[in-house]
Amino acid sequence: MADLISPDFTFTQSNLQTFDYCRRRFYLRYVRKLVWPAQLVSDQQHVQDRDAGVRFHRIIHQYFLGFDPALLQNVAQADPDPRIEAWFITFLSSQMAHLEGTLYPEILYTTTVSGHPLSAKVDLLQLNGGLVKVYDWKTSRQLPKLPTLQKQIQSKVYPLVISRVYGRDAGEKFLDDLTLIYWEANFPDQTIEIKSTQAEWQKYELEITNSMALIHSLAEEEFVLTPDERKCAWCEYRSYCQRGKTAQSIEDFQETNLIDEEMKINGDVFDAFG
Ligand code: SF4
Repeated sequence: MADLISPDFTFTQSNLQTFDYCRRRFYLRYVRKLVWPAQLVSDQQHVQDRDAGVRFHRIIHQYFLGFDPALLQNVAQADPDPRIEAWFITFLSSQMAHLEGTLYPEILYTTTVSGHPLSAKVDLLQLNGGLVKVYDWKTSRQLPKLPTLQKQIQSKVYPLVISRVYGRDAGEKFLDDLTLIYWEANFPDQTIEIKSTQAEWQKYELEITNSMALIHSLAEEEFVLTPDERKCAWCEYRSYCQRGKTAQSIEDFQETNLIDEEMKINGDVFDAFG
């Protein structure tokens, strides 16, 4: 057995999604721990979108921590990107700003799956009258399709971890279901909800267990380069892989569902202020 990573390596939706995107990318990022060596895209639009998303998340986090909304609105207004203020005004007038029950913003949960730690850092968790809801704020330019979101590892890791924490591992009443809610600041009336039950959690657990076992079993040479070279145009490691030196223009690449979630908003950025 290869085990290039520590047995107590903590799996997250971010690193599992990276493995799903490209085994080599996982190896370079999490085994070799190499810093991003190349520019992601040639235009600044993508970088601006990502950074604006991070700052918006920070303001929403502060809102749920109880900061004065008027003060936060001033912060949003002062932001060099006018979208931040527009998004925050949209948020304040949406039902998301008036959620009831016990709310936990930017909270990290960890459970153990098949002997390996599995963590989920959620934007907001709501406990209300026996209902458990997980909220994820997004600032996409295009509304993601439900099947695309359902396929993402995040949509499996979050329910699995939360169901463990508030279901089986809580030792009290079993949780029957929970709902993952994607709220898009650019499409506030088109909330996407993914409800899951015990049957789905078991499927997610099996899938994630298999991924964990596979990752731990691979030898260095088995962390192969993705056969889909279109993905490399978006990957900072392409110079390591001889997959091109020139950054891709976002205009030239419309299949954004191929982009790794970690590239859209780097999990490390959240960790920095989370
Ligand atoms: S450049 Fe391509 S093959 Fe190399 S790590 Fe990135 S996605 Fe994988």
